[in-house]
Amino acid sequence: MAQTVKHGGGVRSIKVPIPDNPLGHTLVYVVDTDRGPVLIDTGWDDPTSWDTLTAGLTACGTTVEEIHGVVITHHHPDHHGLSGAVRDASGAWIAMHAADTAIVRRTRGTGPDRWFSYMRDRLTAAGAPEEHLALLRTPTRPRALPGFSPALPDREIVPGELLDLPGRRLRAIWTPGHTPGHVCLHLEEVHPAQLAGHGRLFSGDHLLPEISPHIGLYEDPDDDTVTDPLGDYLDSLERVGRLSPAEILPAHQYAFTDSAGRVRELLAHHESRLTALLALLAEPLTAWQLAERMQWNRPWDQIPFGSRNIAVSEAEAHLRRLVKLGRAETATGSAPVTYVAV
Ligand SMILES: [Zn+2]
Ligand SMILES: [Zn+2]
Repeated sequence: MAQTVKHGGGVRSIKVPIPDNPLGHTLVYVVDTDRGPVLIDTGWDDPTSWDTLTAGLTACGTTVEEIHGVVITHHHPDHHGLSGAVRDASGAWIAMHAADTAIVRRTRGTGPDRWFSYMRDRLTAAGAPEEHLALLRTPTRPRALPGFSPALPDREIVPGELLDLPGRRLRAIWTPGHTPGHVCLHLEEVHPAQLAGHGRLFSGDHLLPEISPHIGLYEDPDDDTVTDPLGDYLDSLERVGRLSPAEILPAHQYAFTDSAGRVRELLAHHESRLTALLALLAEPLTAWQLAERMQWNRPWDQIPFGSRNIAVSEAEAHLRRLVKLGRAETATGSAPVTYVAV
């Protein structure tokens, strides 16, 4: 049975499940326009998720064939997974920010082997121990990995501009950090329940009521630019804070108000985390050693292999931020690279 929620003003959401994932589900939003319904994100590419999405659309009084367009907050498979299937069924366009479209294009051309060798090199440089690297050398991986052939979007979401949605005012707010091309979508219309504030914000993974989104490196096998995703994320948080939307419609969990309060909480969370990391960096540590010592939602020895890769990426994003702020530096000539507080 599809679970749908009416948010008022021609906006509904469908809870599309993410199989085997503690997040549980993606909230796919259905926004009425004068040309037909438009989706914000589509959900994970899985038969159960597809069935839930199509049943949800029926419960909303429409069908997947009627979809006019698909607006994607970012390229992750729990958001963009079903976009291709929706386009095949309806002829809808798919819109995405150029920086995430570049990742989609690269992913389609890269293939798992290039990806695994890139990850091996990166984790070696981060100081991963031999037993971890060995798992990347002889992977017992499934033949078809999810997310390796994402749909290529056909429209670009241009930051600051209104999307071409007849009868609606939906503006793209570029919020890099969680991914380089993440966008929030600002519905510049009076709140249907007259809540104070400026319209509503579809926040993707950028702003969630109870979860601090993963901020890692912008993993790119073909680009060694030293980016600062955590710095980007913190700037993006302040940008959406200034919008002061009346209500946030996130891609996971549930809709909420007090966006300013949530932004403050997240800024404070990252500040205290950076401070805690500086204390750990009293002695020189590799990114891997730092990840082992950081606070996670469970002890390091209980964190599975795949999640450790994500944790190390998050540790590195924090290290880059500290280096950029002048609060930490790399020790010269050390391989793997070690970092120490200044
Ligand atoms: Zn995401
Ligand atoms: Zn997500």
